[in-house]
Amino acid sequence: MTSATSQPHSTELFSRAQQVIPSGVNSPVRAFGSVGGTPPFVTDAKGALLHDADGTEYVDLVGSWGPMILGHANDAVVEAVREAAGRGLSFGAPQPGEVGLAEEVVRRIRPVEQLRLVNSGTEATMSALRVARAATGRDVVVKFAGCYHGHVDALLAEAGSGVATFAMPGSAGVTAATARDTVVLPYGDRAAVTALFAERGAEIAAIITEAAPANMGVVPPLEEDGIGFNRFLSETAHAAGALLISDEVLTGFRASREGHYGIDGADGSWAPDLMTFGKVIGGGLPVGAFGGRKDLMGLLAPAGPVYQAGTLSGNPLATAAGLATFAGLDEAAYETLGSASRTLQQLVADALTTAGVPHVIQTAGTLFSVFFRDETVRSYEEAKAQDTAAFTRFFHAMLEGGVYLPPSAFEAWFVSTAHTPEILDRIAAVLPGAARAAARD
Ligand SMILES: *Cc1c(COP(=O)(O)O)cnc(C)c1O
Repeated sequence: MTSATSQPHSTELFSRAQQVIPSGVNSPVRAFGSVGGTPPFVTDAKGALLHDADGTEYVDLVGSWGPMILGHANDAVVEAVREAAGRGLSFGAPQPGEVGLAEEVVRRIRPVEQLRLVNSGTEATMSALRVARAATGRDVVVKFAGCYHGHVDALLAEAGSGVATFAMPGSAGVTAATARDTVVLPYGDRAAVTALFAERGAEIAAIITEAAPANMGVVPPLEEDGIGFNRFLSETAHAAGALLISDEVLTGFRASREGHYGIDGADGSWAPDLMTFGKVIGGGLPVGAFGGRKDLMGLLAPAGPVYQAGTLSGNPLATAAGLATFAGLDEAAYETLGSASRTLQQLVADALTTAGVPHVIQTAGTLFSVFFRDETVRSYEEAKAQDTAAFTRFFHAMLEGGVYLPPSAFEAWFVSTAHTPEILDRIAAVLPGAARAAARD
């Protein structure tokens, strides 16, 4: 399919981009560096479909890495943004949409009594960390290998997402002092957590974890003796006077209506002290949020001593998009999402099994990812042991067949409520060939 327009094609755009933008992209994974080739430059998208500058149509399984949970250019969301734009783009003053969006989150997520809106997930985790350090008067933060919390200096060590995709140990440009205050442990390793707290518990401000890691592929928290890993972390942290920050930037309002907390915290047996959100909360516009207990959030300026601010925070277009997205996320939407997710998982499993490709599919609620290895993945070490070359062959065959997957073996696949049975049929038609390509060494 080629269009008759004379707009520049992806290859021309990519070479121009590389002149003026580092590696031609504004976020590393977009450069296709680990899979090779030229990234399609997207010109427009509707529902589950993307169109690029070459006139090619793709079924999208990236969904802007999570936000487009109702599909692209959802009519109600676009109309809400259009209407908000007509009333002004930014006021730098309180506006009604902020209140509505905060109330929606507080209604859905029980541990969140108050929250602040920011402009990205990175800002959310950075700010939550600052609050945790202020509340405890301690410096050390504990994170897990393979978890990604945005590009916050203190949280880049052994991070997931692009850091995992490009096999980087962390990031240059982080000071030794910052690195010293971050302890990285293997995900799910309770003995390592217990040992660290026995030795340094009094120095630890907080543990930060993805509620269900999904930036090294999906690695759900496991139960031991009936106690989930997140609950274990909250109990261990609290026993030492430290806090638990649960990062739901990716899982929030996607894993379930109440995020991943709705899955492993619904019984009220534990609660994080602070939580972070992003992606779905802005429906495609730049929004993040951090929230939690009122006494902790009360430490923020102007009432408290912790400074945090933002010229565009609580932007009226962004809150309109977020509110319209939430309005579309009723029980029926999560059923549609869950059903699309399960159907796609089955189609992928069937195709890879038929072609004899080792794989394991892991889930956290409606979220899932495919590892190209035949054993369960419980940690970053195990995620890295997959056959990324097989993924690369699979990825390019899917792309060739018109299905746009995340260009990395370490990312979740994102469906939306616009992934109808007809759309899934189009993916089903491409999967067997791509699975055979993956099998071909
Ligand atoms: C995407 C992500 C972030 C960072 O959010 P940005 O909006 O990209 O800054 C933080 N934490 C998790 C778990 C994420 O998936």
